Amino acid sequence: MKPKLIILGPPGSGKGTQARLLAEKFNLVHISTGDILRAAVDSGKVLGQEAKGYMDRGELVPDGVMLKVIREKLSEDETASGFIFDGFPRTIPQAEGLTSILGEMGINIYEVIKLKVSDDTLIKRLTGRLFCPKCGALFNLSFKPPKEDRLCEHCGAELKRRSDDSEEVIKNRLEVYRHRTGPIEDFYRLQYKLKEVDGEGDSSSVFEMILEVITIS
Ligand code: AMP
Repeated sequence: MKPKLIILGPPGSGKGTQARLLAEKFNLVHISTGDILRAAVDSGKVLGQEAKGYMDRGELVPDGVMLKVIREKLSEDETASGFIFDGFPRTIPQAEGLTSILGEMGINIYEVIKLKVSDDTLIKRLTGRLFCPKCGALFNLSFKPPKEDRLCEHCGAELKRRSDDSEEVIKNRLEVYRHRTGPIEDFYRLQYKLKEVDGEGDSSSVFEMILEVITIS
């Protein structure tokens, strides 16, 4: 049976990178709510119009909107066999809503990976973060600088910063994580689903540690 996973951690903890690696290794559907919302903003969809203001301020999009997005995504056939959630759930009501949506699908066994990273590292990672708008590759000015200044090594496109990676918005996103998302760690810990992994190292060593703690394969 393919794994059903949730990856948790503050902004900059490496969730996106690890979710991509896990999705590739186990052939899982990667469900990144941040990516879904950014695509909706770029294509001018109603969802994007609803979400944009919250995203620009580093606040959370309302739970009702997010649960509707997830319900739609999970109704696609391909997701039922294996998936990894990245950036969802982010609040207790989202975690409770997800439990009931998965319950309706007969899915009770899944694992939650929590990446632990210090605030210093998070801020360095977020302020240096660059992404390629064409192929999605990620770079970091401090940890993984592109070989050519601001150009993607894979496809040559000009690298960009996420608009919510400014210092002020980063502070707000970390604060929001602590207050609104932090409590869901206990929600999953109490269900014996939470696996904590040290996320300070480079992406391949963190990936190895994740493979050691997850039990479904
Ligand atoms: P991310 O790419 O996961 O850092 O998400 C970027 C932004 O999208 C967040 O700062 C929120 O404004 C919004 N967002 C993404 N996922 C969620 C979620 N599960 N609940 C509420 N807002 C979200």
